[in-house]
Amino acid sequence: MSSLAHMPEKQGQRTVLLVEDHQDLAETVGAFLESQAYTVDYASDGLTAMHLAVTEDYDAIILDIGLPGIDGLEVCRRLRKDARKQTPVIMLTARDQLDDKLTGFDVGADDYLVKPFEMPELAVRVEALIRRDKGDVSETTYRIADLELDTEREIAIRAGKRLSLSPRSYEILRVLMRRAPAVVSRRELEKEIWGDEVPDSDALRSHVYNLRRIVDKPFERPLIETVAGRGFRMAED
Ligand code: CA
Repeated sequence: MSSLAHMPEKQGQRTVLLVEDHQDLAETVGAFLESQAYTVDYASDGLTAMHLAVTEDYDAIILDIGLPGIDGLEVCRRLRKDARKQTPVIMLTARDQLDDKLTGFDVGADDYLVKPFEMPELAVRVEALIRRDKGDVSETTYRIADLELDTEREIAIRAGKRLSLSPRSYEILRVLMRRAPAVVSRRELEKEIWGDEVPDSDALRSHVYNLRRIVDKPFERPLIETVAGRGFRMAED
């Protein structure tokens, strides 16, 4: 891989700059991001990273701290201070560089990830950064408080963590979020999920129970409300 492989930008596609001198890791991360429909530019040293970050408008920059030449922290500091670029930056840091994460925030990084990390985790973080930066949420995304449902990619994220939902629980959540803050009756929910072939009367109950266990229980504030005699609703408060 060359230090700079510039790829044409497709319309509507998100472009990220991946700065990583470890070639295997760069290839793995790059291939994964491309599989998630990102366009990826690469840099393997600080100066190339700096040049690209200043001259191009990326949606986000994934920036390794340990780089030859000027390191990731310095790249970020110069980007913010000298070039006055506010492109969202997520820092990659080795476990023994954990103190660097604090420095990372000092120099203007928006997030950090400790190596080794799972690829989907990186994708979720990058996506969240881009969303936050653009301040826009596409119409395929529903958001209530810190919970986000991306119906295009069929994923739910709460407080930056990807939630692992069964297909049925996901469906219930989708209906509740789409209709929020309206109350959705049990009957309506059953019809949305099973059509005319509603299973036994406890099926919905157990799916809602599971949904709450994942969406609400690990978090301080429950978002799924039972409205006695009427059904369920989701609301900010
Ligand atoms: Ca490195």
